[in-house]
Amino acid sequence: MAAAQAEKVTDQALRLRVAAKPTGAKGLSYQDKGVNALNKIAMKTPLVEMDGDEMTRILWKMIKEDLILPYVDLKTEYYDLGLKNRDETDDAVTTASAKAALRLGVAVKCATITPNADRVREYGLKQMWKSPNGTIRAIMDGTVFRRPIIVRGIEPNVRTWKKPITIARHAYGDVYKNAEIVVPGKGKAELVFTAEDGTQIRELIQEFDGPGVIQGWHNLDRSIESFARSCFEYALDEKQDLWFATKDTISKRYDAKFREVFDRIYENEYLERFKKAGICYFYTLIDDAVARVMKSEGGFIWACKNYDGDVMSDMLSSAFGSLAMMTSVLVNPDGKYEYEAAHGTVQRHYYRYLKGEETSTNSVATIFAWTGALRKRAQLDALKDLEQFADALERAVIRTIEEGEMTKDLVLLTSLDHVKALNSEEFILAIRKRLEEEWNGI
Ligand code: NAP
Ligand code: MG
Repeated sequence: MAAAQAEKVTDQALRLRVAAKPTGAKGLSYQDKGVNALNKIAMKTPLVEMDGDEMTRILWKMIKEDLILPYVDLKTEYYDLGLKNRDETDDAVTTASAKAALRLGVAVKCATITPNADRVREYGLKQMWKSPNGTIRAIMDGTVFRRPIIVRGIEPNVRTWKKPITIARHAYGDVYKNAEIVVPGKGKAELVFTAEDGTQIRELIQEFDGPGVIQGWHNLDRSIESFARSCFEYALDEKQDLWFATKDTISKRYDAKFREVFDRIYENEYLERFKKAGICYFYTLIDDAVARVMKSEGGFIWACKNYDGDVMSDMLSSAFGSLAMMTSVLVNPDGKYEYEAAHGTVQRHYYRYLKGEETSTNSVATIFAWTGALRKRAQLDALKDLEQFADALERAVIRTIEEGEMTKDLVLLTSLDHVKALNSEEFILAIRKRLEEEWNGI
C-alpha cells in the first residue's frame, strides 16, 4: 500500500475514533468525570516521547488518551520518529531525539519501521534510512535489557521459572562487525595488527592445505566497559543479582578480556554497593550459565555477549510466552534510560486496521514502556504520586489479564478458563476500568 494512501486512511480512522469518543468506567466519558489539569498528577521534567509507526502508533495514541492523559498532566518533549517524518527530516529527528534522551535522562519509544527495499518503495523514501534503534543505541552508548512481564495464566514453558529473567545484550562488535574471507586453497592465514608506528603483532590462524573459511572479530575496551557499567547500574537499580558468562576457558584472550573488564570494574566500583544492596555478581562459563538458567527460578539479570544475547533473548521471550509481553529498556552507563516494547510495529495487524477490520493487538509491552519511563522520571524527580500511578497502571494491566480479559495472542496461550478475547481498544478500556479502581483505591 502506498504510504500517502496509508497516511490518509490512518488520519480518517483516527478521526472516526475520536468522534466516537470511548467511555471510561461506569459509562462516563473522561470529561464527564471532571478530570482536569487541576487534579491531575504533576510532572517536573518532561519525558522524551519518540512516536513510531503502524499499529504501535495507533496503540500509542490510545494508551495516551485512555490511560495516561486522564490522570497525568503529562509533560513530554515530542519527536515524531514515524518513517514519513524521518524521511522528511533526513533522519535528523532520530538523532535529535537521542540527544534529548541524553539531556533529559528518560525517554519512551514507540516501535518504528526499519526500512528495507520494500519499505523504500512503499513510502517512496529518499534512501534506506538506518534502524532508529541502532542510531539511538549508538548515540546513547547503551545496553538493552529485555524483561518478560509475568502474569498468572500465561505460564512460562520452563516449569521452574517463577520470576522474570532479564537479558542484557552487549550491542557492539564480535560477529556483527566481522571480516570474513573464503579461503580458495592452500596457504597461510594470519592475524596481523599494525600499530601507528608500524610495529606489527602476528598470530598464525591456520596453515591451510586446501580451501576453507576465516573470520576476524574485534571489540573495544571502552565498549566492554560501558556494557559492564550499564549492567552493574541496572542490577543496583533493580536490586537483582547479575550473572555474566563467556567462554574464557577456550578464548583465553578475547573472552578473557570481557571477564577481566567485568571483574575489574566490579572490584573497583561496585563491590561495596552490591554488598550494601544485598545482591551479588556471579561469573560462570556460558554453557554452565545456560544449564543453570534452565533450572533456576528466575529473578536475576543475565549479561550476554552480543551473539549469546541475540540468541538467548529470543529463546527467553518465546519460553516466557510472547514477544508482546516483553519490555525493553536501553540503559547508558551514566544512568540515562529509553523504554520501549520489544516487539515491532505489528505490520500485519496495521494493514487489517487500515482496511477497517477489527484488530486484537496486545498493548501490554507498550503500556509497560510508558509505566517504566514514568516511574523512572518519578524516582528521579521525587514524585511519589507519579510513581504510585505507574504501579497502579501496571497492576490494572495484570489484573485485566488475570481476570480473563485479554487480546487474542494471549487467549491462544493462556491456561485460564472462560476467557474473553477483546479487540485492541476494548482491551485498553478494560484496563482503564481496573485503573479507575486501583487509582481511586490509593
Ligand atoms: P513484529 O512487529 O514484532 O510482529 C511479528 C508478529 O508477532 C506479528 O505479526 C504478530 O503475529 C506478533 N506480534 C508482535 N507484537 C504483537 C502484539 N503487540 N500483539 C499481538 N501480536 C503481536 O515484527 P515484524 O513483523 O518482523 O516487524 C514489523 C516492523 O517492525 C518491521 O518494519 C520492523 O522493522 C519493525 N521492528 C521494530 C522494532 C523496534 O522498533 N524496536 C523491533 C522489531 C521490528 P500475528 O500476525 O501472527 O498475529
Ligand atoms: Mg535475534
